[in-house]
Amino acid sequence: MAPTSPPTDRRPLVISGPSGVGKGTLLKRLFAHGSGDEFAFSVSHTTRAPRPGERDGVEYHFVSGDDFEALAGAGGFVEHARFGGNRYGTSRRALDEQTARGRVVVLDIEMEGVKQIKSSGIPARYVFVAPPSEEELERRLRGRGTESAESVQRRLDQAKLELEYAKTPGVHDKVIVNDDLETAYKELEDFVYAPAPSS
Ligand code: ADP
Ligand code: 5GP
Repeated sequence: MAPTSPPTDRRPLVISGPSGVGKGTLLKRLFAHGSGDEFAFSVSHTTRAPRPGERDGVEYHFVSGDDFEALAGAGGFVEHARFGGNRYGTSRRALDEQTARGRVVVLDIEMEGVKQIKSSGIPARYVFVAPPSEEELERRLRGRGTESAESVQRRLDQAKLELEYAKTPGVHDKVIVNDDLETAYKELEDFVYAPAPSS
C-alpha cells in the first residue's frame, strides 16, 4: 500500500546508478505515488540534445556549452560533471528554493556529482541503483532505443566505474538491485518513507 503521509526525512535524495539501470523509471513511480508536492525533481542543466519527447525545463534545462560554462563560472552549480561527452549540472538556486519550500529534492546524478555533493556539506541521503547483471544493463540501454551505438558503448564503459565506486564502504545509504521492478520500487519507497533518524 502506498504511504499516506509525506516522508519525515526531508533531506535531499541523491539517486545514482549506471545509465539504463532504471533510475528514471523508479523515480516516475515515486512521484506518481506521492500527493504531488512532497517531492521536487532537481531539473539539471545539460548540453546534451533532447531525446524525442523530452521538454526543456521538465527533464532538463537544455543549454549550449557557452551557457553552461557561464553558469559554472558564476558558481551557479552545486555540482557539475562531464558524462558521455556532455556536461550536466545541478543548479544551486533550484536546490535552495525547493528545499526552502519544504520539499524533498530528488537528484538523479552520476558519480562525480555524488562525490561533489558529499564534500559540499549538504546533508543528503544516497541511493544507488544497480543492475542484476551487466548483460541486462546493456539490454535495457539498447532496448530504450535512445542512444547511438557509440553512446551505448560510452555509457557501458562508464557503468563499470559507477559499479566500482558503489563498492566503496559507506558511500551509499541504500543499494537497490533493480531486477524485478515491483520489488525494487518497494525497496525505494520503504527507504524514502523510513522515519527520519531524529523523529
Ligand atoms: P535510467 O534513468 O537509469 O537511465 P530508465 O529508467 O530510462 O534508466 O530505464 C532504462 C530502460 O530499462 C527503460 O526502457 C525501462 O523501461 C527499462 N527498465 C527499467 N526498469 C526495469 C526493470 N526492472 N526490468 C526491465 N526493464 C526495466
Ligand atoms: P542522461 O543523458 O541519460 O539523461 O544522463 C546521463 C547521466 O547523467 C546519468 O547518470 C544521470 O544521472 C547523470 N546526470 C543527470 N543530471 C546530472 C547532473 O546535474 N549532474 C551530474 N553530475 N550528473 C547528472
